[in-house]
This record gives sequence, C-alpha cells and structure tokens, in this order.
Amino acid sequence: MNYKIALIRGDGIGPEVVNEAVRVLDAVGRKFGHSFTYVDVLMGGCATDAVGKSYPDGTAELCKTCDAVLLGAVGGPKWGSDKPAEQRPETALLALRKDLGLYANLRPAALRPALADACPLKRETAERGIDLMMVRELTGGIYFGKRGRYETEDRGVECTDLMAYSEMEIERIGRRAFELARLRRKKVASVDKANVLETSRLWRSVMHRLAQEYPDVEYSDVLVDNCAMQLVRDPSQFDVVVTENMFGDILSDEASMITGSIGLLPSASIGDSAPGLYEPIHGSAPDIAGQDKANPIATILSAAMMMRYSFHLADEAAAIENAVDAVLAEGWRTPDIAEPGAQAVGTQKMGELIAAKI
Ligand code: NAD
Repeated sequence: MNYKIALIRGDGIGPEVVNEAVRVLDAVGRKFGHSFTYVDVLMGGCATDAVGKSYPDGTAELCKTCDAVLLGAVGGPKWGSDKPAEQRPETALLALRKDLGLYANLRPAALRPALADACPLKRETAERGIDLMMVRELTGGIYFGKRGRYETEDRGVECTDLMAYSEMEIERIGRRAFELARLRRKKVASVDKANVLETSRLWRSVMHRLAQEYPDVEYSDVLVDNCAMQLVRDPSQFDVVVTENMFGDILSDEASMITGSIGLLPSASIGDSAPGLYEPIHGSAPDIAGQDKANPIATILSAAMMMRYSFHLADEAAAIENAVDAVLAEGWRTPDIAEPGAQAVGTQKMGELIAAKI
C-alpha cells in the first residue's frame, strides 16, 4: 500500500525528531512492503519567519490531501506572547486541530520495561505495571466556551469562563473510548465531577447509556479529584480513561510524569474523517535544539500510533514499539534518560538503532 504523510517539522528540535521518525517509517516500509510518501507542510515559527504567518493559507487543505499528519513541535521564545496572534505558533496548532475536526486526543502512558527505574512512584507500585490510555475531549468544554470580563461595583474586575457540553460531543468521545477499550483490556473509567457540575451530570448519563451498548467493557465512574489520587496510588488499575477537555489536560500531564521522561511519550488527535494528527507530547525544546541531544522516541512512537489508528496496521505498529523496547533493553540512552555520568547517544544514532532493529 501507498500512504501519503504530511510532515510538519516545525521549530526547535521538531525537524530533528521528525527526521528520525521518517527513518524508522522507511524501514517499516521496506520490511512490510509499503511505500510512504511525504509532503512537507510549513507551519509554526518557521512559517512566521518565511511568510509572516504561523498558519499559512491552505495549511489544513494541504494536510487533507494526505492520509495522516506527523508533527514535530512548534514554538520558541522568538515568537512569544508579545507577537500578534497570527505570528504565534500556538495559534497554528489550535487552528489546525479545529480545521481537521480533531475532537479526540489519545495519550498512552506506558512504563517501558527497560525504564522502570525512571518511574517516580514506589518500586512496588511501578512493578504492577502502567499501561493506560488517556482519551481527552479536545474541542469543547471550558477552553472553548464564552468568556467574559467586566467591572463590578464593589469587587473590582470579575471574569467568567463557560463550560458547555452537548450530548453529541459527549457521545462521540465516549464511543471512541469504548471502541479503544475493545482493542485493549476492555476497561473504561469515565472521569467527571458529577457531584458539583451540571455538565458532568450530563456527561455521566450519556456514558451510562453507552456502557449498556458495550456490555463486554467494564465501566466505572471516577471523580476527577479521586482520579488524580488514584493515578499516583495505583495506576495499574486503569486501562482507558476518558474525560472532558480541562480535566484531561491536567490528568494527562500527571499520567505522563509517572512514566518517566517527556521525550518518550507520543500522542494522537483524531476526528471522524482522515487525517489524524500524530505528535510527541513535548514541545520544541529550544534549550537543546540543533545539538543532536533530543530524544526522538516520542515522535517514533507517534508514528507507531499512526500505523495503528490511521492505517490499521497493527503489526507494523508493534514492530516499531518492539524495536524501541529492544534498543532500550540493550542499554542505549539519549541524554534525557541516561543515568548521570553514563554514556549517551545522540538523536540521529538513536533513530538509526531503532530503524536497524525493524
Ligand atoms: P518542552 O517540552 O519543549 O521542554 C521542556 C523540557 O523538556 C526542556 O528542558 C527540554 O529540553 C526537555 N525536552 C523536551 N522534549 C525533549 C526531548 N524529545 N528529548 C529530550 N529532552 C526534551 O516545553 P517548554 O520548554 O515549556 O516549551 C518550549 C516551546 O515549545 C514553547 O514555545 C512551547 O510553546 C512549545 N510547545 C509546543 C508544543 C507542540 O508543538 N505541540 C507542546 C508544548 C510546548
């Protein structure tokens, strides 16, 4: 098969880590008889420098001619908050997610066996294993609700942010979670604050209705404050965790930290029609850009998610994940995950080692 992939290399370490993911994808293509063709898409601070806008006209349309999008990272101090919105890289990221209709954000948090020591939790907790998938609603809730700022007579300025959710929005993200659980350990935990919020009560009632349609999936409700605790007490209890936008923003960062380095974690954002967007959870790391120090594994594992969720190539996805585990098991480390004083390899060498294992 031939697959067309849009590459948004972006800023900072973005181009370096995308190069290594492409190296690995090409190795997968050779082994499994696929051909991957790439379309370079200019977006982020580099686009501001080149054409004056971080999200050049036609960016989404170009991505839509492809089967999936792989993004390195965008942003950097050069294009900070003092710049007009159309020059800021973050504007481009939000616009792309919206224009591609990407309402579900999938973030696996899995402790890789060779790196169990990187887990900040107690050894006996880590030994029970961590392999969960956070499914975060990405286009609704308080981040997209109406905002207000006004003067009051006696309390100074007052502001409001409205959290709104419709049954339609909850149902489509809920279905994603149940379908994903069927591909995994068949457990869904739905996180809300139904003891306080009306949106959460609607969320919970829709989830309960869906749970009846998926009787083979074990379902539970978890209050968001309890979920934050359970993630550090015993993360092994979770398989698929589904939640609204802001809760998901916070909990997915917590889940990332318990698995060790930011340089290892991939993510996917998907909607109802192609293309999905695949990207590492880290940013452009300007402090180490251009020094061959960045860990390319998060981006390489994002390419594995692309195989699984956009192209339905489970064996190819597993080949990438197994290659990463094999290279780590042999002791190879980039500086971010190396023991202090230990010998580390660079971005390029790590990519070469993983591609060779494929
Ligand atoms: P960051 O993730 O870029 O870096 C945080 C720390 O982690 C830094 O010390 C960095 O060196 C390290 N790090 C990150 N990725 C690494 C990797 N692959 N290998 C080794 N070390 C790695 O976060 P930040 O410093 O807060 O943000 C830097 C820029 O990235 C900002 O402009 C921010 O807006 C942007 N950003 C972009 C995205 C995105 O494109 N999706 C996400 C987050 C931040």
